[in-house]
Amino acid sequence: MQHFIGNARQHPSGGQHIPVLDPSTGEAFGQIARGSAADIDQAVAAARASLGERYDGPWGGVSAAARGRLLQRFSVAVTAHADELAQLEARDTGKSLKTARADVSALARYFEFYAGAADKLHGQTLPYEPGYLVATVREPHGVTGHIIPWNYPMQIFGRTVGAALAAGNACVVKPAEDASLSSLRLGELAAEAGFPAGALNIVTGYGAEAGASLCEHPDVDHLSFTGSTATGQRVAEAAARRHCPVTLELGGKSPQLVFADADLDAAIPVIINAIVQNAGQTCSAGSRLLVERSLYETVLERLVERFQALVAGPPALGLDMGPLVNRKQFDHVGRLLAQAQADGLRVAARGQLHPQAASAGFYQPAVLFRDVPSQHPLAQQEIFGPVLVAMPFDDETHAVRLANGTAYGLVAGVWTRDGARQLRIARALRCGQVFINNYGAGGGVELPFGGVRSSGYGREKGFEALYGFTVLKTIAIRHQ
Ligand code: NDP
Repeated sequence: MQHFIGNARQHPSGGQHIPVLDPSTGEAFGQIARGSAADIDQAVAAARASLGERYDGPWGGVSAAARGRLLQRFSVAVTAHADELAQLEARDTGKSLKTARADVSALARYFEFYAGAADKLHGQTLPYEPGYLVATVREPHGVTGHIIPWNYPMQIFGRTVGAALAAGNACVVKPAEDASLSSLRLGELAAEAGFPAGALNIVTGYGAEAGASLCEHPDVDHLSFTGSTATGQRVAEAAARRHCPVTLELGGKSPQLVFADADLDAAIPVIINAIVQNAGQTCSAGSRLLVERSLYETVLERLVERFQALVAGPPALGLDMGPLVNRKQFDHVGRLLAQAQADGLRVAARGQLHPQAASAGFYQPAVLFRDVPSQHPLAQQEIFGPVLVAMPFDDETHAVRLANGTAYGLVAGVWTRDGARQLRIARALRCGQVFINNYGAGGGVELPFGGVRSSGYGREKGFEALYGFTVLKTIAIRHQ
């Protein structure tokens, strides 16, 4: 597979490629282009040309309503290619076909949502001194750079690229080297749907090469990054050097708080799904379980039974989980688990591996730890695997202290029937989204999503994302 720049496949200028590995077997089944600074430069130039110097280019000159229609056509094309896209993604990333299909639906829905929003994005008129008319207009940043990770490539493509295009930006996307195939195919589908050359460009390659070049490029006007805290910091530093705005979505260590009056029948399946979905490789995974002490043993008993029945195996079998995405992630999770056991932490339950799971594949069974000290790395660090850590709390104050007691702040779930407590806790939690008596793993397309502290800043999804992909300009007209 080559880059996709200016609606055409482009060979990498350095002539090099990177093998694409199947996480189920660890074997290569294709290759992608290894992008360089020169390739990024070519993609940024194509994006800039599509906008035109005065927003009069083939993309810059398209009206908001017509942009919306193009996004809608793309959404329909995605749905028409759902099977192909889901199979490609499952093979490339190891995610189960069921999760891959859900990702395709979410991608189509993001573009549908932003298609409808494109011509509803407007400024205001402001009261000012007599003799003036003052208006604000929302303009696109220009060329936007999108660094997309491997865990939900299509969903993250949908929520960042969909919003950026709806607002009139031209995009350069650098997908993760372990999950580039779907983005490349989406570039082709966008061209077929009628997006003019340069509106959407895909450059593949290593983060430290193509990704870093995109962040440092002087003609990129906005950066959107989803990934690790450490890389997010590097991206923000590169952006700060040239005063480029950036949105960072950096994952979390999200708590689920279960009070003694919770509806356990409703809570248990949601708690399990929130950590098992995509084999735990979810930024908003509910990875810490905080349970009121009087209910702690009951909850654990029910979870143990369910965890022991969870099966990891080949994506095509439609099991609870596929393999982890790559050797690096597999080793990272393995190291954290080994350290936890060396430190004497108690494993309450462990899931199973399917007999057809190849020994060379990156399979990690689900693990439930109990009584984990709140300051232990297992309760503090993002694991990004199917590992749930449980701990008891004594009262509301203790629960909130534990919930807020990590460097992260992305999402939280609260399970209680007490309405006043629901609101008290929701206001006391330091994070970007709170779910009461449910857990949305990132929430819906319409719901603003993002973090505080080490989980990042800026908001994706909903109208907030659209605002983030615009610059507000104030025009003051003196007419007297
Ligand atoms: P990274 O943050 O390194 O990768 C995320 C994206 O950034 C990828 O597209 C990557 O490209 C790119 N990238 C890497 N280095 C640079 C750079 N210097 N400049 C610009 N872009 C760069 O995450 P990892 O894949 O290494 O995963 C490590 C951990 O990060 C996980 O265990 C998890 O905790 C967290 N993570 C969080 C995600 C989230 O949804 N918030 C998503 C993925 C990971 P490439 O992969 O080609 O190097």
